[in-house]
Amino acid sequence: MLKLPLCPYCGAIYRYGEVKKFRNKENIKCRHCGKEFSVSKTKGRIILTAVAAVILIALNILMFNFIKGLTVLGCFIITVAAVSLTVILFPFTTRFKKKDDEK
Ligand SMILES: [Zn+2]
Repeated sequence: MLKLPLCPYCGAIYRYGEVKKFRNKENIKCRHCGKEFSVSKTKGRIILTAVAAVILIALNILMFNFIKGLTVLGCFIITVAAVSLTVILFPFTTRFKKKDDEK
């Protein structure tokens, strides 16, 4: 599931920084073959966020049971770190779709 997207027409590979820049765009023109495709990211993000939330809850429960004297601040730091990691992974959930599919 976590993979950087490819151009659906020519299979051109897009780098992390490029995919990140696409996050506010609906349509992208491939720099390699020049064909337009649409960006799909909602589905992957929902799955990733759901998985991250489950892991985070489990992690917090485990920490409360195994670490004595764990403070709210400690939980907060771990939660912030986990949320940051989820956001970092967002470009890996982006998928490119052929525009013809929507017509
Ligand atoms: Zn292409």
